[in-house]
Amino acid sequence: MSASDPRPMVRIRRLTKSYGDNVVLRGIDLDIMPSQVVVVIGPSGSGKSTLLRCCNGLELAQDGDIEICGQPLLADGRMLPDGQLNKLREEVGMVFQSFNLFAHLSVLDNVTLGPRKLRRLPRGQAREQARALLEKVGLAHKADAMPASLSGGQKQRVAIARALAMQPRVMLFDEPTSALDPELVGEVLKVMKLLAAEGMTMMAVTHEMSFARDVADVVAVMDHGGIIEAGPPARIFTAPAQPRTREFLQAVLERG
Ligand code: ADP
Ligand code: MG
Repeated sequence: MSASDPRPMVRIRRLTKSYGDNVVLRGIDLDIMPSQVVVVIGPSGSGKSTLLRCCNGLELAQDGDIEICGQPLLADGRMLPDGQLNKLREEVGMVFQSFNLFAHLSVLDNVTLGPRKLRRLPRGQAREQARALLEKVGLAHKADAMPASLSGGQKQRVAIARALAMQPRVMLFDEPTSALDPELVGEVLKVMKLLAAEGMTMMAVTHEMSFARDVADVVAVMDHGGIIEAGPPARIFTAPAQPRTREFLQAVLERG
């Protein structure tokens, strides 16, 4: 890397994590540059969720480094102390397969809660921002609805708006459409595409290969806790270097 290269938004080195004897991440190296979209694919149990959770400080790794916007979240396996960790976490938005909305709060209050509690944003300002974000995800008309009245696709779009309300520098998506009925997948992918087009830095675990093909700058393939290959989707999908990648893609295609 020359000195003129921009710094990675997310820089991961030698990331190593075990649960007991089960080594789940085996020395992951990965850079995500500003505005890049990295799609992570790979079989179930290969460590995709664990990788994302480590990047948000939700899991403590045993070894390695993670930097977010140049700030160390993890250094030689040591995590930031809680106070600083929570601050850095606000830079990293996360969206899960299960939407995790607060059931007792309206859509609008779900989106304003984080900024009000964690950023001490005044109520009026938080609501104004939330309305703009709901507009962006196509749900301005649902501001006063309760989560239970929404479809899965709508819930997930609220979850995205809620994450964006913290004004993260990076968004992590862990199979954001896997719990959705097929006809609702598109509306969530559309929002993710919009964010990508706006220049949001993203890392997404997804089996939506059309999204990977159209939006990803890099597809990283995980197997048994390692990234076995990474590259532009056009290459990974047409000329994978690893037999395991070929097998995995075949299996996904057959599943439809
Ligand atoms: P993926 O998201 O690719 O399906 P995960 O990161 O969820 O994979 O899991 C990787 C491995 O870590 C699996 O073997 C899983 O059983 C194990 N694992 C994940 N979370 C835990 C946990 N909280 N405790 C013990 N083992 C876990
Ligand atoms: Mg997972």
